[in-house]
Amino acid sequence: MTYIQMANTPLHIGVLALQGSIDEHINHISSLGHIPVKVRTSNDLDNLDRLIIPGGESTTIGNILRSTGLLYSLKDKISKGLKVWGTCAGMILLAKEIENETISHLSLMDIKVKRNAYGNQLDSFITYTKINEVSPNNLELVFIRAPYISEISDKVTILCKIDENIVAAKENNMLVTSFHPELTPDTTFLKYFIETF
Ligand code: GLN
Repeated sequence: MTYIQMANTPLHIGVLALQGSIDEHINHISSLGHIPVKVRTSNDLDNLDRLIIPGGESTTIGNILRSTGLLYSLKDKISKGLKVWGTCAGMILLAKEIENETISHLSLMDIKVKRNAYGNQLDSFITYTKINEVSPNNLELVFIRAPYISEISDKVTILCKIDENIVAAKENNMLVTSFHPELTPDTTFLKYFIETF
């Protein structure tokens, strides 16, 4: 009998491309042999296997989502099970509550987030830690004017804490990180999102 080695089928990975660190995600997706799709309209959401909501400025991205109507189609797709990973501003956009703010954006994940949680002194920093769910090795975590999660419900699983603050978590089809794996050369986190999550 002859066995044929099947190549992994490339998946269509959307990146919300309104503002923020878009190209870094696109490059990492291509480097893993998957197909990146820039998402700017509701039609771009069709036939995606996964979606990344990148870092950037959550108020700006939220405003564009509202003015284009994409907010509602995006919310619908994620509610129906599209697997999504929000990095940094993406985490803020998915949260049901934002500290000291009256509005939230997609309002899908049972977390409360604190924006710019590390203040001006520690605006941006890099640290290294192991996230058991993702890899047995240390990962480089890059934080840029980052939020952290200050409250969760019991629907949410914590994946990583730094100094007692929650910086990575998941709930059903939603994954969020305060940090930016796309700004490092390491694709381990993206591989976890695409192939394991
Ligand atoms: N500080 C930004 C915000 O509040 C998030 C920063 C980032 O995505 N790197 O939206």
